[in-house]
Amino acid sequence: MVFAHDTEGAMVAAVALVNSAEPPVTMTTTEELAAFFVKHGYTGRLAGDQAELDAVHRILPRLRALLTSSRDDAVDLVNRILAEAKALPQLVRHGDTDWHLHAVEDDRPLHVRILVETAMAMIDVIRADELSRLDICDDPDCDAVVLDLSRNRSRRFCSTTCGNRAAVAAYRARQAN
Ligand SMILES: [Zn+2]
Ligand SMILES: [Zn+2]
Repeated sequence: MVFAHDTEGAMVAAVALVNSAEPPVTMTTTEELAAFFVKHGYTGRLAGDQAELDAVHRILPRLRALLTSSRDDAVDLVNRILAEAKALPQLVRHGDTDWHLHAVEDDRPLHVRILVETAMAMIDVIRADELSRLDICDDPDCDAVVLDLSRNRSRRFCSTTCGNRAAVAAYRARQAN
């Protein structure tokens, strides 16, 4: 494990959410958002309505900037998000999840909790100077974010689809020579 479990969980969820805006676009229904909520172990309030989904969509550019900025720019974004949300870090334990950090109350809107949780996770990434773990997919036609949590930093593609497409292209290029 590169980062603490809650940091990695928050990063994986944020990357999945940001990448849902890349083709094939997903997270277009309240059902998909509910499935995302469950899959990534969110707790607290889920309104399940269109307003909540719209609010989540509106933070995606900010979330993407947070994940793809330079280290110093990411610091500005983190500090601003935490100040705006009046974040107050508290260690909590719930369900099967051991002590971890929450920084806003469970009844705050989901988009606020997602932003704050991602900002809290980025604190670890910034302090460890590990922003190279975040990159854009190596496929020239893909703008999805890649989170590389592998020990040997070997991950270059956002998905197996992109990885396979690159492998096929490389194979064809060799055949053509
Ligand atoms: Zn929690
Ligand atoms: Zn990709």
